Amino acid sequence: MPELPEVEIVRASIDRACSGRTIRSVEVVDGGVLEGCTAKELASFCRGRKIIGARRHGKQMFIELDRGGCVTVHLGMTGDLIYNAKGKRPDKHDRVLFDFKEGSQMVYRDMRKFGAIGLAASVDDFIMMKRLGPDALEVGRQEFIARIGKHDRAIKTILLDQKVIAGIGNLYADEVLFQSRIHPMRSAKGLSAKEAGAIQRNTRKVLLASVRVSSDFDRLPKGFMLPVRGLSASCPRGNGRFVSIKVNGRTTFFCPSCQKE
Ligand SMILES: [Zn+2]
Repeated sequence: MPELPEVEIVRASIDRACSGRTIRSVEVVDGGVLEGCTAKELASFCRGRKIIGARRHGKQMFIELDRGGCVTVHLGMTGDLIYNAKGKRPDKHDRVLFDFKEGSQMVYRDMRKFGAIGLAASVDDFIMMKRLGPDALEVGRQEFIARIGKHDRAIKTILLDQKVIAGIGNLYADEVLFQSRIHPMRSAKGLSAKEAGAIQRNTRKVLLASVRVSSDFDRLPKGFMLPVRGLSASCPRGNGRFVSIKVNGRTTFFCPSCQKE
């Protein structure tokens, strides 16, 4: 499932390939991925508008258009936004096609259709409407500590709550807690300022490391959990094996020697 690094990689490639291009028409192949707008509304909103850039907040992406407004894109489980330089070459999982004036297109492809395409007046408007917390890479240390410290639930659950901090998903939450040597069931409120600060620092470290290697986990630095994350895999610190528990319904891996309760 795409988390912040995967969305950031898609954002950067769309920003590079599609900025400055003018949308001639929009074809909605499957309206099931639209959220809060009809195919007709999406098409008439975009027609003749130029893309000025792609932005991201947490796991949410925005295609900003000239003269204001943006197309909102959430990749869900299997969604992808692709620049297709040659134009028409439909894949059976293509759901929305944005045709550019010069013949190329931007394609929203999504096998399982848990993603969402919509419209918003602005990026800030959308963030307020969805009550998203600050972006995991943008939030400062003090704000991060204050926000997670308000909650008496398991720190793993709090890291996944997009209204507290936006962008961290299940896999990266496990890695952040492993790097911070903190048990996933510890109460967020019960963490010391030092522990909470370590979580903020490691959130940046882990997310940026993944962006750098295009989220190819095998290329992550030594000492990361993600390349081996699985039951009975050896902890890279060499002091035990990972175990799995459910935290708020989510499969969670941790090393009982490094992350004591
Ligand atoms: Zn360990």
